[in-house]
Amino acid sequence: MNIRFGSWWIEIYQRAIQIIRGPHPECPTCAGHGGIEVGGEYVLDHQWSPDIELCDCWDPSPILRIPLWFRRTERVPF
Ligand SMILES: [Zn+2]
Repeated sequence: MNIRFGSWWIEIYQRAIQIIRGPHPECPTCAGHGGIEVGGEYVLDHQWSPDIELCDCWDPSPILRIPLWFRRTERVPF
């Protein structure tokens, strides 16, 4: 489940919540798409498959991850 507030994404998983800052909506480089087409190639059926490079205005790795539960530490069996 994903919730979006402007350029912020909140991803809700069964075990954690992740907060990701998305692309800047008014970025002059990518216009809020988060990626820039840097080339590409024609693949099957002459379809254009673009190579997309991430824009500098965002980072797709989560900046905050909140675990919803902690795994119990296993005891060493003796
Ligand atoms: Zn951008």
